[in-house]
Amino acid sequence: MIHFKNVSKIYGNDTYALKNINLHVKSGELLALIGPSGCGKTTTMRMINRLIDPTEGQILINGEDILKKNPVKLRRDIGYVIQQIGLLPHMTIQDNISLVPKLKKWPKEKYEKRVDELLDLVGLDPSVFKSRYPGELSGGQQQRIGVIRALAAEPPIILMDEPFSALDPISREQLQDELIKLQEEIHKTIVFVTHDMDEALKIANRIAIMRGGEIIQLDTPDKILRHPKDDFVTDFIGEKRLNASIGNPVAEDLMLDKVITSSPTRGLAEAFTFMKKGKVDQLYIVGKEKEILGLVSLEEVRNQFKDENKILADIMVKDVIKIQANQSVGEVADCFANQGLTTLPVMQDNKLIGIITRSSMIRGIANWEQRSSP
Ligand code: ADP
Ligand code: MG
Repeated sequence: MIHFKNVSKIYGNDTYALKNINLHVKSGELLALIGPSGCGKTTTMRMINRLIDPTEGQILINGEDILKKNPVKLRRDIGYVIQQIGLLPHMTIQDNISLVPKLKKWPKEKYEKRVDELLDLVGLDPSVFKSRYPGELSGGQQQRIGVIRALAAEPPIILMDEPFSALDPISREQLQDELIKLQEEIHKTIVFVTHDMDEALKIANRIAIMRGGEIIQLDTPDKILRHPKDDFVTDFIGEKRLNASIGNPVAEDLMLDKVITSSPTRGLAEAFTFMKKGKVDQLYIVGKEKEILGLVSLEEVRNQFKDENKILADIMVKDVIKIQANQSVGEVADCFANQGLTTLPVMQDNKLIGIITRSSMIRGIANWEQRSSP
């Protein structure tokens, strides 16, 4: 579907951002480009929608040389999602999503229906969200809008440049899960730039590992894990993922180690700002020794917001279910199954050290099995 043929990009006289790239992105696949900063991921991606043109070589989409196409028209057929979202702040969510369909002169009924469909697809109630403005949404919600806006005009190709890397771990996991689900339904050709190996392993059909403007290895996640081509790839994947281990995973192996927390004496306006900034919908309230004192939901902050005298200690739920770092995967799974939790805090020596989500648990188990298999 997308063919790079001997593509190079040279800045100045001899700075090669890309060196003779040959790449075939297959129709309907999600291809992840991964590599250290400055290796040429963004340059590769932006050549597909002609934000950057090659110095040498050719790029074909369905056999047609894109240099012969009008870049503006080309871009209308290619969805583009970036980290900074780029929603227009003075436009409603509906207007933001229907931008390209309008440019393509879709009739009003058609694009309005499409907006509803897409909002439903990512679990945002259209009657609530379509008339809101971007500033009224959380970071995770805004990024969802960024993703569905790229899908709005049903482009066959979607480019995503580190779209989730500014999000907190929980929203990132959720959006990755949603993207996987979405891709199962819509089968678009997606080129996805990331520097996060876990993200690439989780969502990609194939992964291209880049270094210094070259593609070092292009393969399925499974092949890359089993047969890393050289030491660079091995290092990039990381010992932890490759080393076979014995025994069973424990809570600590299944957790994300960044948790958004606050202290009990904070006011509700502060908590609200903090949640917005951290892009989370709940806050663990911890004491000086990182012990858990309670849990506050965004909903509760909203409900009680009018009362200026209230602090987090007044509204937090004190009875928080926790798990110890060395408890077994079975005990973790039981907690999720029996308690209806969305997250589970992990404790060591009475300190909060991480948080398990359903998807971090499943990924942790899968990674563990991968490592343990001969
Ligand atoms: P990545 O997305 O993998 O971090 P980029 O594709 O943005 O990397 O950049 C690849 C290389 O090209 C880097 O070394 C970068 O410094 C260089 N580069 C990118 N744009 C320019 C430019 N306009 N002028 C000079 N060098 C550039
Ligand atoms: Mg980049």
